[in-house]
Formats: sequence, C-alpha cells, structure tokens
Amino acid sequence: MSGIIGCFNTKGQTTDVIHNCFYGIFSLQHRGQESAGIAVNAGGSFLIHKNPGLVTDVFDEVTLSALEGFSAIGHARGGSPRESGTDAIQPIIIKSRVGNIGLTSDSVIMNDNAIREELKNQGAIFQTNTDSEIILSLFSRNRIKTEDSESAVLETMKEIHGVYAMIFMAEDRIIGVRDPYGLRPLCLGKIGDTYVLSSENCALDAIGADFVRDIEPGEVVSISTEGVKSLFYNQSETNKKDGKVCIFEYVYVARPDSVIDGMSIFDSRYRAGLALAKLHPCDVDLVIGAPDSGNAAAEGFAAGLGVPYGAGLLKNRYVGRTFIKSTQTQRELAVRMKFAALKTAIKDKRIAIVDDSLVRGTTTKHIISFLRENGAREVHVRLASPPVKFGCCYGVNASSETELPAATMSVEEIGKMIGADSLGYITLDALKECLNTIDCGVCSACFDGNFIAGMPDASNDDVHKVTYS
Ligand code: SF4
Repeated sequence: MSGIIGCFNTKGQTTDVIHNCFYGIFSLQHRGQESAGIAVNAGGSFLIHKNPGLVTDVFDEVTLSALEGFSAIGHARGGSPRESGTDAIQPIIIKSRVGNIGLTSDSVIMNDNAIREELKNQGAIFQTNTDSEIILSLFSRNRIKTEDSESAVLETMKEIHGVYAMIFMAEDRIIGVRDPYGLRPLCLGKIGDTYVLSSENCALDAIGADFVRDIEPGEVVSISTEGVKSLFYNQSETNKKDGKVCIFEYVYVARPDSVIDGMSIFDSRYRAGLALAKLHPCDVDLVIGAPDSGNAAAEGFAAGLGVPYGAGLLKNRYVGRTFIKSTQTQRELAVRMKFAALKTAIKDKRIAIVDDSLVRGTTTKHIISFLRENGAREVHVRLASPPVKFGCCYGVNASSETELPAATMSVEEIGKMIGADSLGYITLDALKECLNTIDCGVCSACFDGNFIAGMPDASNDDVHKVTYS
C-alpha cells in the first residue's frame, strides 16, 4: 500500500507546486509509513529527495526549497518484505532515450517475474527488485516504438497484469493511470493552474484544491500545458460500474474524510455500525471504537443500539514499527505502549468494542484483556467487516491463510480465542449495502475468495505480504 500524488502547473509556474506535493503526500501518510519521496521537473532536469521514515522526517524547509519545479510526483510507501531497502523507495527516476522519466506507483504486478526475465533476456539490467523499475523499463522500451507517452503507457498496461494506480512524470507532462479493474483509487483535482492527481481526495482538501473527478478504471489521464486528455485501455472495460475498487478502502485503508468512487468513507463505516446493531445487538453500558479505524463504525453501532458512545482507549501515535515483540511479555508491553485505557470510563462497565476487521486477532485479544485488567465487567466485540478468510495477493492484508483464524475457525471459536464475551461480524451482503452511493463494484476477495485480477506468478510465494494489524 502506498499514497501517491502528482502536480502539474499548466502555465509552467513553479509557485507552490512543491508545497502542494509535500502537503498532499503528508495527507496520504496513513497509506504508508516506511518511506517518502518527491521528484520534481525543474525544466527538463529531474531533482529528487527520498528517504526512509515519515514524510515529516524526510522533508524540511531546506530540502523542499531545493526542489523547485513546475511538476512534481510524490510517494508515501508502506512496507513489503520483497521490496525492501532504500532501493525500493519511490519515486524512481530514470534517463531514457526519450528523456527523463519518473514514476510513483501504488501497485502489485502479478507477472513481474516473467516480464523481468524477458527484459533481462533482451539485455535490460535492473538495480532493484521493484515492480516500478520493471514498469519504467517497459515504458521506456515502448516509448521508442510509439508516437507519444500516452500510447507508451497503454502498451505498458497491456503487458502488465496486476492492480495499480500510478503517475508517470515525463519532461512535458504527468500521466496518471488506474488499472482496468480500478482496484486502487486515484482522483483528479485542481488548484489555480495546477492539476493534482492523488490516491485520495483528502490530499486535495488539505491543499485547498477542488475535486474534479475520480479517474476511471483503465483510464490514462495526461496533463500538460494543453490541459487534460484521457485515453482508455479498453473501451469495453471503462464502464465505471464494472470497476472493482478494493472494499478494504472503505473498511480500513482510506482516511474517513475521503470520498472514493462516490462513497464517503466515514458514511460507509457509520452505516456498517448501524447494520451491526441490527445484526448483533448486545446489552452494554458503553460502546467504544478500536482506535482509530473502528471509531466511525462504533458511533454508528452506538446510535443503532441507543447506547452512549465514548472514548475508552487512547492510541499513542508515536509507537514506531521497530518495537520488538518476540515474547508474550513484550507483546503485552507493546499493547500498553500503543494504547492507554481511560479507567474511569470503563471501570465496572459492560463494554462493546467495535473494530474495522479482525485479521490475525492478536491485537484484539490483547485489547480485550487490557480492558478487563482496567476494570471492564464484560467485553463484547463487533466487527464492521466479514470474516477475513483469504490472504490478499494485491498488497493490502496478510497473505497467508494460515495466519487468518477465520479461514479455519467458527465465529464462536474465534470469540473464545480472543477472550470476548460475544463476537459478531457484519455480513458481506450487509457491508455491500452500506456502500449505497458507490458508483462502481468492489473487490471483496479476502472475504469471498473471488480474485478478479488473477493470482501472482506461482514463483512469487512471497508476493507483497504486507503486515496488517
Ligand atoms: Fe482489497 Fe481484499 Fe481485494 Fe485485497 S482481496 S484488494 S484487501 S478486497
């Protein structure tokens, strides 16, 4: 998972482009916290700054002031065991026969091994094991054979199979592209003479840009001094209603203030909470949300039950990923470091805690025992998504079915394992009904096993296992 952004000033002005890119990528930090980077086009020469860490760790006024350009692309990257190290940090820029090319992508390419081997056989050399380098290599080869950059992108899309939202930066334009399934979100905004492409519209709101529209599945949108031009990968696949955006964007990934493909993230989560109250009511004194992704659904659940909603757990946002959790004591300590209990709010109360989902269940288990330790009389768990039975090979949640309790256990068994007084999941049908204003379809493969974009190369056993908790 990654957050991507691209900015292009159609008058060739550099004013505010870098700051719009910086604040935009800062607003997409929730999509990836491993590394950040920005590349700018300073009149043909490309400048780049990228490093491991949060956006605010990587950039300061000094680094930003050195990045002046009329177009820019930015990236906030999540972790992936296969794509690791500083080589994997994006954007990536290369010098091709047709000039400088940059790429920022939120992608998982299924046939990457086959393409890499084919390109190697043709003499290509690679410095990293990333999908992005393969995509850039294909693009630059296709660009020689095609009339323009947009056609080269379309040719590249025909060769790669996978899920992606990407922004290319050429010397005279930026080109956004969303895969033919529309699994990853991408939208277009505008502020003054600058067009902005972004994973989510929360980044547009942050910089004061107007939302123009979502990029459609299979759409290639090119922004240059001539304005905005669109092409489509395959006309028969560009009906928006046939798109299949990842349902986990609504469940967990996207920021609550974003709207993706016509559906507000906050509203979808609140509605899931209301639906849960109908499906699995319980007698409790207080409803709390698992911070922070369960909060909107918890509000809806409380409203549906007519029970107070309040804070019971606080999250420490400064706990890093380096925390060592190899023993039981350390894991418990990690929960204590991550969460603080509001004892006066939960003591002697019957609590319902609402979370977005249960993947491995380890954090939920620790939270329940933590709540009991701090005086909760009963702890009931409600989940705003169905049982996660399949690993996601598109880069969103844990890939191995052996790690997913719902793949082999009943709801009652899972409830017992995590130590809940009761456990209730929303159904997939009910969750889909909560997306009442969405203008396309959804991928829900981690719940129903229907992997619409296919599976990775068999040789990629370790494809993009992203730790998710
Ligand atoms: Fe999203 Fe699940 Fe589909 Fe992966 S399998 S893209 S997490 S809905």
